[in-house]
Amino acid sequence: MIVTRFAPSPNGPLHLGHAYSAIVAHDLAKKAGGRFLLRIEDIDGARSRPELADDFRRDLEWLGLEWEDVPAQSTRLDAYEAAARRLMEKGLLYRCTCTRAEIQALEPRMGPEGLIYPGTCKGRHVDLSRPSALRLDMEAAMVRVGEISWEDETAGRFTADPRELGDVVLVRKDAPASYHLAATLDDAADGVTLVTRGADLFFASHIHRLLQALLNLPVPRWHHHPLLMEEDGRKLAKSRQSGERGFGLSDLREAGEDGRALADRLRMGQMPCGITLSRFPHGET
Ligand code: GLU
Ligand code: ZN
Repeated sequence: MIVTRFAPSPNGPLHLGHAYSAIVAHDLAKKAGGRFLLRIEDIDGARSRPELADDFRRDLEWLGLEWEDVPAQSTRLDAYEAAARRLMEKGLLYRCTCTRAEIQALEPRMGPEGLIYPGTCKGRHVDLSRPSALRLDMEAAMVRVGEISWEDETAGRFTADPRELGDVVLVRKDAPASYHLAATLDDAADGVTLVTRGADLFFASHIHRLLQALLNLPVPRWHHHPLLMEEDGRKLAKSRQSGERGFGLSDLREAGEDGRALADRLRMGQMPCGITLSRFPHGET
């Protein structure tokens, strides 16, 4: 049975890009007689606005989607802590007290996820009176798992190699997990068999596959879908004002727009004026 999910973070209203993502996940499951789940990714306590979760449900209903709710991330913190402890016991995590400014001052390379951490704290005693994050020792982790691969339904099979991302954060200074650790554990706990999300998160699947190997989690398949882009090449998701520009779902709903008809147009690839679909979120060809 195919199980997919839509996993929005409640730090801002949903827009057309989210609608497209939810529809892709919904349809992939429903066409195969499977299940479509909604998980609220509210690990980001400071930025989360709990009241948005109900808006999200209203938006999905308006689009004509049917889903099952699974527990939000804020209810699963113990599971994240337990997994981090296991990785710690294997010697695969280390403490890092660096601030963003300290990392930036070293002029590190840029990776798909932002600055690549230059490994300053690895193998060092850190000052525990400062807030610390836990980073994955990527080289050690890769040695431990050997060669592993993952499969995207449309793009094919890839050797999982997240080394170019550097030692990513798995436990944040301000939360018991990072997106990577939480989402990987949640997808396993929710029985997700097909992880669907935008092509901008393609790189994350390398990390998630590695975490599955390290934590003995079941391995799903992936489906990365194209993104809605504005004419100037910006991701809709990145355009903070998308709601004000008339692409916010609650605004469209409240303006009396027919959500089911909109969903059907998105399914057929008919994008509103000024929006295109692209597989290449970073402008590469
Ligand atoms: N919470 C993430 C987001 O809103 C979900 C990414 C995913 O589907 O893995 O971008
Ligand atoms: Zn550090």
